[in-house]
Amino acid sequence: MMREKSAGAVLFYKQNSKLEYLTLHYPTGHWDFPKGNVEKGEEEEDTVKREIREETGIGGIKLIPGFRKRIQYYYRREEGIVRKEVIFYLANSSKKSVQISSEHLGYAWLEFEDALDKITHKNAKTILSEAHEYIGTKALF
Ligand code: ATP
Repeated sequence: MMREKSAGAVLFYKQNSKLEYLTLHYPTGHWDFPKGNVEKGEEEEDTVKREIREETGIGGIKLIPGFRKRIQYYYRREEGIVRKEVIFYLANSSKKSVQISSEHLGYAWLEFEDALDKITHKNAKTILSEAHEYIGTKALF
C-alpha cells in the first residue's frame, strides 16, 4: 500500500475580537486547511510554512507552540489505495490577503462556527475544534 504524509495548519487571523480561520477548496471538492506533502529531509514545521506560502502567498506566519495533531485516512488513486497521515499545527497570520495558487479552487476566512460547517471531513472538523479551544484556553490574543 502506498503511504503519504502531509503537514498543514489551522491558520487563524485575529483582529479586535474577531477570530477567523482559513479554509481552502480542494479540486477534488472538499474544504480543508492548507497542507501539503512533507518532502524528504524536511521538518514538518518547514513544510507548513512552505505550503502556506505556496498555496496562499502568506509568509511570516507564527506557529503556536504546543499544538500538534495527527489524523489518518485512506483514499483511492488509480494506482491503488493510499494510506495518508496528516499532521496539523496551529498558526497565526497577521495578514488576511490571499493569493490562491492553481492547486485550489478558492478560499474563505470564516469564523469558528462557519468554518466548522465548511470543513468537509469529520476528523478535520475535530482538529478545528481542538485548535479553537486551544486558542481560548491559552488566552492567545
Ligand atoms: P495535499 O494537500 O496533502 O497535497 P491532496 O490535495 O493531494 O493533498 P487530499 O486533500 O489528501 O489530497 O485528498 C485526497 C483524497 O482524500 C480526496 O478524495 C479527499 O476527499 C480525501 N480526504 C481528504 N481529507 C480527508 C480526511 N480528513 N478524511 C478522509 N478523506 C479525506
